[in-house]
Amino acid sequence: MLTDQFNRNHNYLRISLTDKCNLRCTYCNPVDLPKGYFSNCNKMTADEIDQIASVFIRLGVNKIRLTGGEPLVRKDAKDIIRRLSKYSIEITITTNGVFIHEFLDVFQQAGIKSVNVSLDSLNRSKNKLITGRDEFDIVLQNIQLLLDHGFQVKINTVVMKGINDSEILEFVEWTKNTALQVRFIEFMPFKGNHWMDKDIFSHDEMLHLIASQFEFDTLFNDKHDTARKYKVRGYQGTFAIISTMTKPFCNGCNRMRLTTDGKMKNCLFSQTEVDILSALRRQEDIVPLIKQCIWDKHESLGGQLNNQDLLDDTSKIQNRSMIHIGG
Ligand code: SAM
Repeated sequence: MLTDQFNRNHNYLRISLTDKCNLRCTYCNPVDLPKGYFSNCNKMTADEIDQIASVFIRLGVNKIRLTGGEPLVRKDAKDIIRRLSKYSIEITITTNGVFIHEFLDVFQQAGIKSVNVSLDSLNRSKNKLITGRDEFDIVLQNIQLLLDHGFQVKINTVVMKGINDSEILEFVEWTKNTALQVRFIEFMPFKGNHWMDKDIFSHDEMLHLIASQFEFDTLFNDKHDTARKYKVRGYQGTFAIISTMTKPFCNGCNRMRLTTDGKMKNCLFSQTEVDILSALRRQEDIVPLIKQCIWDKHESLGGQLNNQDLLDDTSKIQNRSMIHIGG
């Protein structure tokens, strides 16, 4: 078991398959990085992902989420999903939804039951404005495809004040006749995304707004859940709020991350990374590195985001951009 100094056990690994993406979401893509930045990345091969995953599984991991960048743009994504499906663990995926129709069979064969799809607006032109691409129709079709095939679908919606907070009620209304979970995510700061405090639409603001229109119940939350879950009475689906910025949930954190270039992060906001891939390539034992990385985990928010100075000037935050970490 991978335990840190605060007695938190870690059994959930998020692996970034690539830092490339077919979309250009404003909140995720760094705007200031030099050309060629992504293509130079020395990424883990499918075989190396399998080897590293098997070590984490031996150490107690029972859930792996594939992410990116956009995980489904990686050419050997199907091969990687198939390889990981041989382990007795839960496999999930976070995707922008554009290529899901090409992966449905593989998801089913791999025993994937739940898929998180990002969608920040229910308005086609606003969606294009946020993502930089016009893929709205195919994403909606693919969400329906997943539901028709019995997948559990969670919609990830990053709420940005003045951009899409006006759509929160519409998203909740979507859950009336559709059995999915809409997850409203507070906008978070990363390298190059020009985040500002004033752009946050907070958990309390969201709940207040939703309560003005709907009667809802609070659902049970597991201690590891990042999303506080709610259900409008009589509706088929649910909604949830991920309040990293205003109500962090670090106490129950069980998550670890592996970037596409094989660096382990013990927190989304950690300043430090441990180079697992280079050690593997030198044929060293990576177990002590993984254990030390978890032991060194800060009590909350990577030891960075609880510092108001850094929130006032996010250029001082030492971290990668979200697309380069793997969300
Ligand atoms: N390409 C995939 C997708 O679009 O879901 C996976 C990668 S994306 C980085 C994973 C998740 O991170 C998405 O749900 C996205 O909305 C979220 N995300 C990215 N940047 C964010 C930010 N600045 N604040 C909050 N959530 C963010």
